[in-house]
Amino acid sequence: MKKVRPPIVTVLGHVDHGKTTLLDALRKTSVARKEAGGITQSIGASVVTTKEGKKITFIDTPGHAAFAEMRSRGAKLADIALLVVAVDDGVKPQTLEALKYIKEAKIPFIVVISKIDISSAIEPVKGQLEKEGVLFEGRGGDTPVIALSAKTKKGIDELIEMIILVSEVNEIKADEKGALEAVVIETGKDSRGPLASVVVREGTLSVRDEISMDGIECKVRGLFDYEGKSIKKALPGEPVLILGLKELPPVGAKVTSLKNGEVKKEITKRDLKSSSVEEGEVGVVFKAKSAGALEALLANLPEKVVVVNSGVGAVNESDVFFAKSAEAYIFAYEVKVPSAVKKLAETEGVKIESFDIIYKLFERLQELVQEGQIKILGKAKIVASFPFNDQKVAGCKVLSGRIADKDTMLLMREDKEVGELRVVSLKKERKTIKEAKEGEEFGVIFKPQLDFEKGDVLVSFRK
Ligand code: GDP
Repeated sequence: MKKVRPPIVTVLGHVDHGKTTLLDALRKTSVARKEAGGITQSIGASVVTTKEGKKITFIDTPGHAAFAEMRSRGAKLADIALLVVAVDDGVKPQTLEALKYIKEAKIPFIVVISKIDISSAIEPVKGQLEKEGVLFEGRGGDTPVIALSAKTKKGIDELIEMIILVSEVNEIKADEKGALEAVVIETGKDSRGPLASVVVREGTLSVRDEISMDGIECKVRGLFDYEGKSIKKALPGEPVLILGLKELPPVGAKVTSLKNGEVKKEITKRDLKSSSVEEGEVGVVFKAKSAGALEALLANLPEKVVVVNSGVGAVNESDVFFAKSAEAYIFAYEVKVPSAVKKLAETEGVKIESFDIIYKLFERLQELVQEGQIKILGKAKIVASFPFNDQKVAGCKVLSGRIADKDTMLLMREDKEVGELRVVSLKKERKTIKEAKEGEEFGVIFKPQLDFEKGDVLVSFRK
């Protein structure tokens, strides 16, 4: 079902007419309203929240070139354009260029007459625009005009209200369950590898989604919102930074979802630099004191351990986000974990484990791999032993789950594995049964006839 989504707004106009200052002013009003910390990271777009709690997504710096680029790729990005014209400079060549783009894109726009703290003579500017075919509200058309000063903030709230009004009149809606439609607005690289910011127009973009950006395919390993927070999914109207790319897509590329399995094999294969963690694998972010230590560690990993990321030095915030997006552990080998990072890991639900001795680290990895491989179906304690014909029956009580006929089990003694066996027959009060549930007592004959003792535990599992 289609629902109202935040409108995506782009700011166009001649150079020095105040576009950047206006965007700054818009963002600041929103931050002040939220009483929260400032914006920590630019992802090419920002979200402004109105007094009523409605949201508007502003594209930070598309500029004319990017706008043209998007159009040439057939991507539709903005729903509404703001055409900024400085009151003291009037219509200029780039104003006309912007008008041309807006007409071609067939999107509604609002004329913003800026810098009114310098002069209040807005009528001449309106006249110039009318000559270019702009039809203003109340003068034979429906183009709204807002006069403002980004410097004094006069008119900023009116602009925000007008954007919401225009978006309501134009019924900007999307279906979050619809087919994914998003556009790349910015790309870059940092320690996390190639990155792309996109704005979702339709559908939902989630971590682990397999997507194509104009033919460049990737599996989304992490998503970050405009405040740098790690998120699981981006809804229609929201800008988001994508982690997990192998190469940079072009700005303006259309983002679509791939059906499962269509992603090239090489991306899902085990890869030391970046990889996605599949079922049965254990994802780990490794941090070590030196490059040599890290190398020794990475060279000896057991199968099924996937290195989500690795580096030299103390565990930091981005390690936590990496681990979170891949649902991985962080292993700190002879390095510190600052308390702020510990705290962040706690709130993000990421486990950090520290080691000083390398074999302990490998032991723990083995343990995690085993846990990841085995699905435990039930556990039972052996409480008695009695003979039956020439065999030995183990009298047991189910501790958890269930024990069933033909199950494969591990015989455990004091948390150590004695051996693997299979249920041959399951009995309760002399009757053959198929399954014993939690709390029930039963007798079991298994093969091979391992020498069990009272107090041993049987763990039924599936590989
Ligand atoms: P852009 O090139 O369109 O992004 O323009 P900028 O935002 O960089 O602004 C260009 C110049 O105009 C800068 O020196 C700004 O300080 C100034 N400026 C922007 N907005 C206002 C305003 O509302 N009033 C005044 N007096 N100056 C402004």
